[in-house]
Amino acid sequence: MTGIVYKSTGSWYVVKADNDELFNCRIKGKFRIKGIKSTNPIAVGDVVDFELDKSSDEVYGVIHNIHERKNYIIRKSVNLSKQTHIIASNIDVVFLLVTINNPVTTTSFIDRFLVTAEAYGIEAVLVFNKIDTLDEVSIDEQLYLQVIYSEIGYQCLRVSAKEEKGIDSLKALMKDRVSMFSGHSGVGKSTLVNALEPNLNLKTAEISEQHQQGQHTTTFAEMYDLSFGAKIIDTPGIRGFGMVDMEPEEIGDYFPEFFALKEHCKFNNCLHKEEPHCAVKEALDNDEIAWSRYQSYLQILAGDDEIYRQNNFEK
Ligand code: GDP
Ligand code: ZN
Repeated sequence: MTGIVYKSTGSWYVVKADNDELFNCRIKGKFRIKGIKSTNPIAVGDVVDFELDKSSDEVYGVIHNIHERKNYIIRKSVNLSKQTHIIASNIDVVFLLVTINNPVTTTSFIDRFLVTAEAYGIEAVLVFNKIDTLDEVSIDEQLYLQVIYSEIGYQCLRVSAKEEKGIDSLKALMKDRVSMFSGHSGVGKSTLVNALEPNLNLKTAEISEQHQQGQHTTTFAEMYDLSFGAKIIDTPGIRGFGMVDMEPEEIGDYFPEFFALKEHCKFNNCLHKEEPHCAVKEALDNDEIAWSRYQSYLQILAGDDEIYRQNNFEK
């Protein structure tokens, strides 16, 4: 049988088979997945083959194969061993919730997120939430950002989770796909998910409260089916999206508008900094590249990411 992993608790996996039936599964022996070393061999989102073991009273599945992942997101532990944990896999789209005020989402935060999504190979969509709260000045700011990001190829949505505006366009993008939601605490993720599916009640809020009390909780990603034919992966306790280790020469490739110009730079390993005849710098001088994007690029290149990781990613 073949199915998708909906939940993982370390040693047991809940797998939904093609016929929509749920099975508790474990892994056969110690099979390892080629390529990555991780603390967990199987993650939520994985497509697996399993056989039923009917030898005991309780029928359970034995996973013997995992299909190749189209992508996966990881978390590295901050301790010295830096072990890799696969949070989830086979994600079709990740929605970044952005708010102009309360809380402020900076372009630097947005750009780091987008770079990570590019590096992971996951489509990212910007969802500007709380549009009901925008005054004239902040509407201008929101539209300005929307122009910057849609011009370089990112879809942008304007929604109000509270007033349930723009929800249908979001649902259309989610239909028949596996989605994830991300964004600063307070941008409205829970409110939005509630507007999408009133009875879902993801655990995000509950978990973060426990964290404030300093309680150590191990949290696991979980996949949910929504009534309009969408799947959502919830990652309680993991606020951000991580930052992938990147070589300096790679970073520019994850800025689509830089990547498009790269072949016109004099040097093929151009870092778009001080090099002569750099097409990216020229485009910047001609206002064809947003200044904020270039600033974010320089920040990532300078490697301020350790701080970012600890603030936005690790629990
Ligand atoms: P989360 O931390 O991302 O899950 O954010 P919440 O969903 O808990 O929302 C944080 C606060 O923002 C709550 O007080 C919500 O009622 C409010 N909020 C969320 N979405 C909207 C919106 O579209 N408009 C307005 N005015 N408030 C919102
Ligand atoms: Zn260049």
